[in-house]
Amino acid sequence: MRKPHPRIRKATKWTSAALALILIAAWGVSEFSIFGIRTNHWNVQVYFGNVLVYYDHSGTSFGLTPTWIWLRFDDANEDRSWWIKSSPPMPWFAYTTVTIPLWMPLSFFLLLSGTAWRFDTLARRRNQSHLCQNCSYNLTGLKPGSNCPECNTTPPPLSVECKE
Ligand SMILES: [Zn+2]
Repeated sequence: MRKPHPRIRKATKWTSAALALILIAAWGVSEFSIFGIRTNHWNVQVYFGNVLVYYDHSGTSFGLTPTWIWLRFDDANEDRSWWIKSSPPMPWFAYTTVTIPLWMPLSFFLLLSGTAWRFDTLARRRNQSHLCQNCSYNLTGLKPGSNCPECNTTPPPLSVECKE
């Protein structure tokens, strides 16, 4: 089995961790305010741990200039969604809405980050204990940088694996 390249693994690990953090922050803010952006066709806003995507087919609802949405909750009109909700376009309004709970993308990025993290740790451990990155064959005694005698994998450069 081909293992992902260390650089890709590291990029995945940090990017998905950063995205997860952004989503957690957005969730926190969405507990006391509504924020988002609207254009003439789109209205995307985050509130109570949900992302509401609203598409206006006629493009006349919100004016032509994109504007940021920032509202404080006045009254607790809590509308929490725990699954994707979508409203079909209605002929008299001609809009479509989709509500996505933030935990969905959040758990995806947490899982991705956790998996990449685990692979990264395992790879570093294998590298430090002189095991082949691909088949875990013991490379002790071989010249550093030489190919694995079992599967002929070239070990990754130490600068990539041994940072941190
Ligand atoms: Zn090998």
